[in-house]
Amino acid sequence: LPWALGGRLAGLALTLLLGLTPAGAALVTVAGGWFGGSRTAGVLAGATALVLLGSALQLPFGAGVRTVRARYGLVTQGWAGWAMDAVRGLALTLVLVLPLVLGLFALTAWSPQRWWLPAAGAAALLTAALSFLHPLLIEPVFNRFSPMPPGALRTALLALAERDGVRVRDVLVADASRRTTALNAYVSGFGATRRIVAYDTLLTAAEPREVELVVAHELGHVKHRDVPVGTVLGAVGAAVAVAVLGLLAAWRPLLDAAGATSPADPRA
Ligand SMILES: [Zn+2]
Repeated sequence: LPWALGGRLAGLALTLLLGLTPAGAALVTVAGGWFGGSRTAGVLAGATALVLLGSALQLPFGAGVRTVRARYGLVTQGWAGWAMDAVRGLALTLVLVLPLVLGLFALTAWSPQRWWLPAAGAAALLTAALSFLHPLLIEPVFNRFSPMPPGALRTALLALAERDGVRVRDVLVADASRRTTALNAYVSGFGATRRIVAYDTLLTAAEPREVELVVAHELGHVKHRDVPVGTVLGAVGAAVAVAVLGLLAAWRPLLDAAGATSPADPRA
């Protein structure tokens, strides 16, 4: 907990430091200058610099969390694999963030006053799309998934779902043992991408009835529509957050503190 919370606090401190002092504006200007100094260069290089700085700042805290987990025998992965995961996460973040900031700054160029209206709608739609596509695009970057092999356990789990009136296309097994000894399962996606995933560690360490108990809990998430409900809440939250950002970005003292001339300025 101290490492995880420390990482959050450090990230917040970095955001405030870059946002409310001339340091962030200088970072965008310098990074953009390396790539020709155009507005697009400022947006892309500035966003990349922010992501890289933020990720680098999280490294010692992530290493701290890993060290504590290792002390309790929960870690099966070496430091090389841990570093590879960090690189994967960074690449994934850049792939998601860079097109988003390009779209965002296309909107602020279109209207420095009303950019947040379409941006709020787009944020809601993107949140829903990402929740739907998460099992297909994000999860395979970090784990391999295979259908649970046919047998008494799989039959029992599907029967459990049927008794609950929950339609389950498949129960998948994730190769969680490549990182951890921890036991878990989860449900993700919705509609055509909905899936129940059990850690392979659960199948090797727990009795079949115990596995049933864990999967019954995950079926409860499906039955109570937790993923769609969470997605709607997330989409509304994203739209509200963008609208608040629109208000804040129109506030002169904040723009002055950030060293930006308008919300359309990459330094914003
Ligand atoms: Zn749960």
